[in-house]
Amino acid sequence: MSYKVQPPLWLRAFFRGAVWRKTKSEKCVYLTFDDGPVEKETLWVVELLKKYDIKATFFCVGENAKRHPHLMDVLLENGHSVGNHTFNHLPAWKCSRSAYFENIDKGKQYVPGQLFRPPHGQLYPWYMSALKKRFKEIVMWDVLAMDYDKRLSKQTVVNNVMNHVRNGSIIVFHDSRKAWERMSYALPICLKRLQKEGYTFKVFEM
Ligand SMILES: [Zn+2]
Repeated sequence: MSYKVQPPLWLRAFFRGAVWRKTKSEKCVYLTFDDGPVEKETLWVVELLKKYDIKATFFCVGENAKRHPHLMDVLLENGHSVGNHTFNHLPAWKCSRSAYFENIDKGKQYVPGQLFRPPHGQLYPWYMSALKKRFKEIVMWDVLAMDYDKRLSKQTVVNNVMNHVRNGSIIVFHDSRKAWERMSYALPICLKRLQKEGYTFKVFEM
């Protein structure tokens, strides 16, 4: 499973225009959350991050942002960054090029900024230039917690992060209902251990 948790080099090379990992020379990580904002889960994450004085980047689904504009305000007021995750969480391999970019542009109406992460990590290399015209950074990841996977134990989610994290890792959790049980268990443990190991937390500039 570790190929899924930590994407292999050939895949990263295939989507060279995207960012998978940041500065290797610095003991820092970039914490990211996908698929929100939703009432309970997003607010819980914001409170937890406040406790640890950590800023993160939230890749928001446009229709959630439309439904909960106050949650977008909460994220920004707390110093977090937000990024586009399409309007309907649309995977690139399941629709036409025009439908995909229309969905992204619709998401832009509700989610500000210059960051993008493709749902399910699905992308075509030949979409990259059109994405780069719309966004400053296409943000993939170095470590996937897999907190959304109901087949995994809570402890496996902790291990996914702690066994793969390294300098400059971009880490993905989900502030979603689906991930709640595993995320709410693993996130506090991971934050505590990452801070103890001396990692600092950085945020993507919007
Ligand atoms: Zn997603």
